[in-house]
Amino acid sequence: MNRDLWGYSFDKLPRWTCPHCRYGLLQPMGNYPHVEESEYSKEEQKLQESEPDWTIERFVALLKCDVAHCGEVVAVGGNRVAELYQDYEGREQRWESALVPMFVRPAPHIIPVSRNLSDACNVQLRKAFELYWLDKAACANRLRIFVERLMDHFEVPTEGKAKKKKKHRLDLSERIEEFDSIKPGHKNALDALRFVGNYGSHEGQTDTEALLDCFELLEDALAELIDEKKAVLAAKAQKLIENKGKNTW
Ligand SMILES: [Zn+2]
Repeated sequence: MNRDLWGYSFDKLPRWTCPHCRYGLLQPMGNYPHVEESEYSKEEQKLQESEPDWTIERFVALLKCDVAHCGEVVAVGGNRVAELYQDYEGREQRWESALVPMFVRPAPHIIPVSRNLSDACNVQLRKAFELYWLDKAACANRLRIFVERLMDHFEVPTEGKAKKKKKHRLDLSERIEEFDSIKPGHKNALDALRFVGNYGSHEGQTDTEALLDCFELLEDALAELIDEKKAVLAAKAQKLIENKGKNTW
């Protein structure tokens, strides 16, 4: 995951990978971005004490996939803001305008969406990508729901005794414990997603870096759990050894 693609603001919109064909790059269309300043902002700019970051501007842009037979069109919108740029020695300061996307639809994939994922997981992950721009806490909550659906995918029971005496409905933390006995090694990553999801639900805000950490953990866990990356590579290595270096796949 390249974090530069998922920042808060951009001097120009990044070349995200197309969410439809998954290999084309999104290129800006026409006069990009279209920016308008509100009338009340223009009035405030006339005040003597006004600073560039008082400006209220909105932008919209259309991006198109550069693969001819795909040509997906993605709509982006948000605020254009003034940010104070400062060099490392703090000698130079200047205002620069930056785009802050608040919606991107259809949303580019922050991590790869495996074709082996269940539909129920797929829906939650795609929602998380959309909500990432709009509402970080809601995005974190979707990731938590995604983990629930992932437990369903692996048929982790929803009822059991866990550490209690009586049979009861298992909460997510208990299901993750159960899952660890089926497929060990991912408990911490899944628990981290659960915690960030809880935090997002209760506090109404989620730190962007923590959220990107979650996507990174998820990317790694899914590569193993869903696509069995290490097992596939080990099988390829074994085949090459058996065939004395010839690729016969
Ligand atoms: Zn495309």
